[in-house]
Amino acid sequence: MKKHNFYAGPAILPASVMAEAAQSVVDFEGIGLSILEISHRSKECTAMLEEAEALVRELLGLTDGYAVLFLTGGASTQFFTVAHNLLNKDLKAAYVDTGSWSSKAIKEAKEYGQLEVLASSKDKNFSYVPKGYDIPEDLAYLHLTSNNTIFGTQLKEFPATEVPLVCDMSSDIFSRPLDISRFGIIYAGAQKNLGPAGVTLVILKKDLLSKIQRTMPTMLNYSTHVEKKSTFNTPPVFPIYVSMLTLRWLKANGGLAAMAARNEEKAQLLYDEIDSNPLFEGVAAKEDRSLMNVTFVMSAGNEGLTDKFLADCAAAGCIGVKGHRSVGGFRASIYNAMPKEGVQTLVDVMKALGNK
Ligand SMILES: *Cc1c(COP(=O)(O)O)cnc(C)c1O
Repeated sequence: MKKHNFYAGPAILPASVMAEAAQSVVDFEGIGLSILEISHRSKECTAMLEEAEALVRELLGLTDGYAVLFLTGGASTQFFTVAHNLLNKDLKAAYVDTGSWSSKAIKEAKEYGQLEVLASSKDKNFSYVPKGYDIPEDLAYLHLTSNNTIFGTQLKEFPATEVPLVCDMSSDIFSRPLDISRFGIIYAGAQKNLGPAGVTLVILKKDLLSKIQRTMPTMLNYSTHVEKKSTFNTPPVFPIYVSMLTLRWLKANGGLAAMAARNEEKAQLLYDEIDSNPLFEGVAAKEDRSLMNVTFVMSAGNEGLTDKFLADCAAAGCIGVKGHRSVGGFRASIYNAMPKEGVQTLVDVMKALGNK
């Protein structure tokens, strides 16, 4: 039976990407060696790394003022790396707390300098995105999380400010066009919407490098990775390679604008069913609903159908629909690579449950 992958992360990748990656594990581009066993300084690998960077640049429309880095340690390592590079006891940074990942970013940065939490949606279990807060002008940076993977909310716009924005885009990078010029740093663990676990994409405005004051281990310093083009040490070659294939796929499928249109259509299909089927109800505030992670629960009085619905999902090949423990209910992650048919299959299961 065809499986429809709704896991939140590691998550679905395009089938064509998987097939090509599998082939390259056996023989990379006909050179008689696997992608897993070639030097990261070989000409083939260098060309691959260059293509990965070029695709990031092209798809996001990056100017030369930005560096593209492929690092390790996950988004979680960026939580403290950002502060380690950009903050000190005399400087202040602000955070908006929109969920578990934001909260972790705050916790990790706290020791490095003065931290202000400008707004939080914790009062309603992060079911909405705070808006209309004042942004001080004397900040080293303002940290945001563009998509809250666990709670199913997404920033539809970014605050207008001269303060450099630092944004965790782990779960919605490359899902929609972006005005990059507003951002100082964007980081994303690849395993939600870009590639396999093991690489973290960091996009960094190079003029921020002059603000680094702390002495620190070489590997923690952004300047190292900018200077050495992500090859100061051995980069995670295979995860970068698979991410590169995904970016090729994205480009061949029309780029970010086309992806955004597809993502809106898929999300609409699912949210329409949640809103019209009396057995279900959405979790996130309507205007903040994520196009990537759709959170929903059984409506009041129908909670008893939870296990039955999950069993029906499994029987229809819909995998990974169980909600995160901090929200309960269900979460359908419908990243770029999820075809509309996958969402339709889930909607059909929801409809059938209502018809019984
Ligand atoms: C998954 C996720 C993380 C954690 O990423 P790791 O790469 O596992 O460290 C951080 N932020 C967001 C928004 C996520 O979805």
